[in-house]
Amino acid sequence: MGFFDSLKNFKNQIDHIESSVYSGKQSLLELYERNAKLEEEIALRTKELDTANRQMLTLQHIWDMMNSSKPLSSVLNAIVSCLQGELGYLHSCIAKRLVDNEGDYLQIVACSGDLFADKFLNLFSCAPGDIRLKFPDIENLPEAIDGKKIYQSKDIFNLAKNVFPNITDELAQNFADETNAKSFILVPLSYNHSHFGSLVVFSSRENATENELNFLSLFARQIELAITIADLFQAVKEQAITDGMTGLYNRRYFEEFIKKEAVRASRQNQKFTVIGIDLDHLKKINDVYGHNYGDIAIKAIAEVLKTNGRSIDVAARMGGEEFNVILPGVDSAGGLVVAERIRKAIEAVQLERIGNITASLGVATYMEHSDDIDELLELVDHAMYESKRNGRNRVTLAKPVSETSWQEVAIDTFINILTKHRIPLDRKTSKILSNKLQEMNINNEILYQVSDELIKTYNPEHAEDGTKQKVQLASLLAKRFDLPKESIDKLKIAMLLYDIGNTMVPKEILEKKEPLTEEDKASIKQHPLIAAREILEPISTVVDIIPIIEKHHENWNGTGYPNKLSGENIPIESQIILIVDSYCALLENRPYRAAMTKEDAIKTILNDANNKWSDKLANEFVSIVQNEFS
Ligand code: GH3
Ligand code: MG
Repeated sequence: MGFFDSLKNFKNQIDHIESSVYSGKQSLLELYERNAKLEEEIALRTKELDTANRQMLTLQHIWDMMNSSKPLSSVLNAIVSCLQGELGYLHSCIAKRLVDNEGDYLQIVACSGDLFADKFLNLFSCAPGDIRLKFPDIENLPEAIDGKKIYQSKDIFNLAKNVFPNITDELAQNFADETNAKSFILVPLSYNHSHFGSLVVFSSRENATENELNFLSLFARQIELAITIADLFQAVKEQAITDGMTGLYNRRYFEEFIKKEAVRASRQNQKFTVIGIDLDHLKKINDVYGHNYGDIAIKAIAEVLKTNGRSIDVAARMGGEEFNVILPGVDSAGGLVVAERIRKAIEAVQLERIGNITASLGVATYMEHSDDIDELLELVDHAMYESKRNGRNRVTLAKPVSETSWQEVAIDTFINILTKHRIPLDRKTSKILSNKLQEMNINNEILYQVSDELIKTYNPEHAEDGTKQKVQLASLLAKRFDLPKESIDKLKIAMLLYDIGNTMVPKEILEKKEPLTEEDKASIKQHPLIAAREILEPISTVVDIIPIIEKHHENWNGTGYPNKLSGENIPIESQIILIVDSYCALLENRPYRAAMTKEDAIKTILNDANNKWSDKLANEFVSIVQNEFS
């Protein structure tokens, strides 16, 4: 081999070595890159695990909330706030779809408290929940809702234009700009297979990741579940017929039973008697021996009622220390005998520490004292209170209803108002209502119905059965103040008529969403006067309720109107109308605020004690609403 051949050979060897070094380097590089990728992957998975973990904890938190006894509204608020924290939205809310005679609309039932909500407050001078939102007419949205599909859009301006009533382009643009939202996502919610509303979130990101959308769906399912659970809970509660503490029937069952019993009694022409029983001086027992002993006394009465009744009698705890017993097929003479036996049996009970207890009883009989259940129960109460007044530990039989009942006076008044066109109601409605009144037998239900229908002509939010509730609340309250029957009857008529002047207030003012001007206020303030003077003065039978109605806007502290009367100068009947009316109004939606919950309405009533009404009136009223009226 020549020199050149050896050189060539040597070069080949070097090339070979070089190429293997290169390929070694290459695979090392690849290894290094693979490693880096793996590390990246691990970091990503760890992050995902972290997120999943956090999301699990959030869901766990929601589950705990759902299992607690918190009201649905707080559970829903907690859910949207969690969502906010978890996915960093600008705002999250749940909009409920509602329908009334004006069509579909949306109401915010839960929302996260944040800068977004504050902006809303600034732009519209109200909280999100207080506004009646239009059901949005946005392209593709109805299909998404029907198909239960998530809907995403970047067009906040269009959303604002579509949901806010009477919004200008400028305000909608302001809203879109001020909120800084780049997109919104809407997840349809359904309940019992029908569309209930939507979960809506506003995001500062233009697009959502798949993971985010999955999580949103998960949240939406939790919301549906929370609503289903709350509904089941309510159904279970409504099915309960016994009182937990005593094992007697509860008020709900009693009310159902007495209705059926009245139908049966009328059909078979067979009377039944109701005995009302109220433990004497329970307050004293509670104060001296403690609440536990008060409970023992209540249970002792329940035991007496259980052992002294026939199997067909129905004994119920109506609330607190008040019981009613229905005796089917028994007239008032028989009822008195049973009541006296119960009274003696209660007196004979010996309780540890307390010694003996007593009760006051009232007795009234269906088809003897009254053919109307509400009235019958009122008569039982009257008789029971008479037992209290006459020294307690006794039985009193109800007195027969006087010749003309308050219902007859009220009916005649309504007929007069309608047929003489004393209010600006259209002729056709006037005719229908007055016919209804003329054709009926004396019956509370029709009376309440007509009153409700009249009120609905100027207050579309007026509650179902609103008049009945008001009359019942007012008469329960009047009894707490020991008003004689004649005054209570007058009050009941006044309860039906006190706001009739509203039919004279221009509709635009009643429905106004903006704060009222001084002129509007003056016009609204005139309404009791208009009612009293113009409408009722020509009707002789109700002339004496005009002063009660005229003073039902006077406040206990002298800040009311029209005469700034204060304290005892305001007739108790007028004070009762004021508190009942205020409470019932708080439970209704108004153009400028949403309906309050019962709890919040009670708080408001108590807050106004010593201002709008006396402390005593507020406390008695709240005790009725909490214990007797549910
Ligand atoms: P009267 O003889 O006039 O009936 O006097 P009273 O003290 O029994 O009646 P009042 O209505 O003044 O007070 C009733 C009290 O009963 C007030 C309330 O706190 C108490 N009470 C209501 N429900 C219960 C209960 O379930 N257990 C106990 N221990 N007390 C109750
Ligand atoms: Mg009592």
